[in-house]
Amino acid sequence: MVILYTSDKGNFISLKNITIDEMEARGIKKNIYVNLTNRCPCACTFCLRTTKKMAETNSLWLQKEPTIEEVIAEFESIDISLYDEIIFCGFGEPTERLDAIIEISKYIKKRNSNMPTRINTNGLGDLINKKEIAPLLKDLIDTVSISLNAPTAEEFYEITKNKFGIESYEAMKKFAVSCKSYIPNVVFTVVDCIGEDDIKTIQKVCDDLGIKLRVRPFE
Ligand code: SF4
Repeated sequence: MVILYTSDKGNFISLKNITIDEMEARGIKKNIYVNLTNRCPCACTFCLRTTKKMAETNSLWLQKEPTIEEVIAEFESIDISLYDEIIFCGFGEPTERLDAIIEISKYIKKRNSNMPTRINTNGLGDLINKKEIAPLLKDLIDTVSISLNAPTAEEFYEITKNKFGIESYEAMKKFAVSCKSYIPNVVFTVVDCIGEDDIKTIQKVCDDLGIKLRVRPFE
C-alpha cells in the first residue's frame, strides 16, 4: 500500500523507494503526497480512477484505506524537515477523509510547525461532509488548491459528473471563499489544455471571487 509518495513527471514513487538525496539528484520536487482514499464524488472524464484497469494496476490504488495511525507511522520513519511541502492528494478526494486530514495535520504541525501543508481538492468538501469545513482546517493547512475545471456550472457538472448535481459549482465557489477566512493561501487551478477562451473566462470568475488562478500543465 502506497501511503506517502512523491511524483516525478506524473509517475508516482513511494517514499519507501526513494531517498531525499535521489530526489535531489533527479530534480524531483521535495514534496510528500499523502494518499488517503480512492473515494471521490466525481467521475471526471480525464481521471485515472475512472479507468478501472488503470485503477487496479496503478500503484496508488488502495485496497484498504490507511488508518490515521498507519499514516503517522510512515511519517515517523522520515525526517520531514528535509522536505518542502506535505500535500493531501492521492487517487481520490482527500476531504472524503476530513478527520484523518485534521489529525495528521495536527501531528505534522506539532512535529514541525513551519512545515507547509496543502490540500489538493475538487472543492466539494462542504457537500461531502455536510458542513463548512474550512474553520476546522485553520492553523493546520496552509494552502488549499481547488480544481476549478470549468467556467460555468453546466460545464463543471459535465466534466466532473459529480453526485451532487448542478448546484455543486456554486457550492465549490462558496467553499473557496470560506477558505479565504481561515487558510493563508487559497488558489484555483485549471489545466492548460482547455483553451485560451475558457481560461480567460475562468480568470474572470477567479478575479470576481478574489482568488488566484494557477494554470497548470495537463499530465
Ligand atoms: S475530482 Fe479528481 S479524483 Fe475525483 S474524479 Fe475528478 S480528477 Fe478524479
